[in-house]
Amino acid sequence: MILQGGMLGVLGGGQLGLMFSLAARRMGYRTMVVDPDPDAPAFAVSDRKIVGSYADPEVLSEMARSCQAVTTEFENVPAASLATLEKSHVVRPSSRSVATCQDRILEKTFLRDQGFETAPFAVLLDGRLPSPDLLRPLLPGILKSSREGYDGKGQWGIGSPEELARLLRGRTGSYVLERKLDLVGEFSVVLARGADGEIALYPVAENLHASGILHLSAVPAPISGTLSDKISTVARSIAERLDYKGVLSVEFFLAEGDRLYVNELAPRPHNSGHYTIDACVASQFDQQVRVLAGLPLASTRLLSPCAMGNLLGNLWQNQSPPSLRKLLDHPSAKLYLYGKKNPRDGRKMGHFTVLSGSASEASREAHTLLASLSPSESARDDDFSEISPGLS
Ligand code: ADP
Ligand code: MG
Repeated sequence: MILQGGMLGVLGGGQLGLMFSLAARRMGYRTMVVDPDPDAPAFAVSDRKIVGSYADPEVLSEMARSCQAVTTEFENVPAASLATLEKSHVVRPSSRSVATCQDRILEKTFLRDQGFETAPFAVLLDGRLPSPDLLRPLLPGILKSSREGYDGKGQWGIGSPEELARLLRGRTGSYVLERKLDLVGEFSVVLARGADGEIALYPVAENLHASGILHLSAVPAPISGTLSDKISTVARSIAERLDYKGVLSVEFFLAEGDRLYVNELAPRPHNSGHYTIDACVASQFDQQVRVLAGLPLASTRLLSPCAMGNLLGNLWQNQSPPSLRKLLDHPSAKLYLYGKKNPRDGRKMGHFTVLSGSASEASREAHTLLASLSPSESARDDDFSEISPGLS
């Protein structure tokens, strides 16, 4: 067990590293943050800052010298760096878990081999086209690069074999091509699994995406108890099969006929789990700290239905933030800004959580708040259907 005063290391200094560092600080730990970007948000609150590459042996030696345990902010750090640190230190999640989750081919193959339902997919190695027989049932499909993608980046809609051939011409990377499903809903669940195998699950969130980026989450997802139990059971058993230690997030698709598919795994806290900071006894970041420090897991109990809205760079105009007046005035909304200097379209600049009597009510309020942020956003927000009033 690492006690207060101990130094916890995190690879990655974005908003997830920031929120991890704040949780660690609150529990008396010190943090060391590594990020190649000197303006990384987590540097503002960390005790030690290293601006450098995640693969640099000197950076890793410095971490090993100064930290008692190390975690990662996101899946796109080299698993080999975690493996190096693992030789002498507690690293959670393990390099093996991160290696599986950072490569869509390994991830989807793991899920399929373990008997979890995924969208039908094919693996395309080194930019090679699949045979027509393999390809036909996967169209219309979505081509996803096997590594480094996030927030819908590295993905292309594919309507025909010719389109796929055109896209792959001259490319040598590896991809998965998966069938585009007719989605009834998207859900996620965040869990923490301790070193002793104990699991604490948060309630299921229903998620709305826009252009492949999370727009809004509502909790508890307005679904039947049966579906919610099924989602939780699948997430739990994925964590067990991975022998996972740390915070794990599992994204799900629901298609016609109540068919449930696992979409992807994130070996870390999740954007759709930010609500846990304001609406649960302990947040997903508290759990990340606890697992890393070898403490028992905390309660995941939901204190209030809620919704979370993302504030993307699209809302900023010429570097200026949108008018946040309505959000600031709202009696049960809490605003988070990450302190990022360069707003860009699709970049996550902040989020807010609104608490209400029910998830549908909270989601309606979140929609209204998002619509209040700018005239252009109000038009954009109209493009989204509301969180389903009840999928059961
Ligand atoms: P990312 O790593 O960028 O989150 P995802 O694979 O989760 O990548 O895709 C982002 C979003 O794109 C999903 O949340 C969903 O809205 C949509 N999407 C991805 N794959 C499919 C699919 N097979 N069928 C329908 N929609 C999909
Ligand atoms: Mg996703």
